[in-house]
Amino acid sequence: LELPRPKILRVSDGELSAVDWQNAPKAEFGVIGDPVSHSRSPKMHEAAYRSLGLPYSYLAIHVPVGEVEPALDHLKAIGYRGLNVTVPNKVSALQWSTKPDAVATRIGAANTLDLTSGRCTNTDGSGFLDTLSDLNLPSGARVHILGSGGSARALAATLPAAGYDVAIWNRTRTSAEKLKEEFPLSEVLETPSLDCDLLVNTTSAGLTGDRLPIDWSGANNLIAYDLVYGSTPFLEEADRHGLQTVDGKGLLVAQGARSFYWWLGFDPPRQVMLEAIQ
Ligand code: NDP
Repeated sequence: LELPRPKILRVSDGELSAVDWQNAPKAEFGVIGDPVSHSRSPKMHEAAYRSLGLPYSYLAIHVPVGEVEPALDHLKAIGYRGLNVTVPNKVSALQWSTKPDAVATRIGAANTLDLTSGRCTNTDGSGFLDTLSDLNLPSGARVHILGSGGSARALAATLPAAGYDVAIWNRTRTSAEKLKEEFPLSEVLETPSLDCDLLVNTTSAGLTGDRLPIDWSGANNLIAYDLVYGSTPFLEEADRHGLQTVDGKGLLVAQGARSFYWWLGFDPPRQVMLEAIQ
């Protein structure tokens, strides 16, 4: 069945938007989520394809909670090869997959699917580790994770094994305690303490402009990292207190580059991808 190539919603046409899964035009790759129209992944992947001369398209596809299974079956049937998965569909994506790898299984969520084979993986944790290599953290550095949602799970599953000493805080303490039962974390914090080398905000507070209950007055020589890209109240406060800050753009590129490699077997140009989302 030869469907028309996408005429709408092409990032290369300067648009940043999404299409409902039922109306998705034929393409090779994409990202599913809800919301997803804000995603910079299409821009980033299409920039990599263009720079390598690859004839692929990558679309943002709106898939509401509860529709992941029919959406994936449909996208597979019309010829999609690989999909990234974002909030809130990562757990459902793992459940759809018939061949999850050890990383996705351990994290309990998938952010990368190969529709042809039914395999899936999760590149959030390894992508995050990639971004730490530029930060010159001491070995055995103390990391405090704020939040205990899907991305916190990816970090909790990855950082201790890479030699980091990891403590966690979450607004809802019980879910942080659950993570500590599952992964080798050192402590569940009462408050988001600054007594660490790296303070990682994995909460979605920045998306709504909410402030976390952090007392910044003792801030001293730590790095503040927010997984959300762009400016957030968390990064603004850290910057005001003279701290080094890192936003989520590097992670977006790193996890996307790892997905690209997992699908195609060769590395994409990370600098091109980074420039595409600036
Ligand atoms: P989840 O929905 O799974 O988890 C959200 C977490 O944020 C929960 O711990 C929740 O706490 C907490 N939270 C939400 N609002 C507030 C608030 N106002 N104050 C305090 N805590 C709050 O999301 P994910 O972990 O999947 O993603 C989190 C963020 O990271 C998203 O914004 C996402 O866009 C970003 N992200 C960026 C990536 C990148 O490539 N740059 C990759 C992955 C994620 P509670 O349990 O109390 O509800």
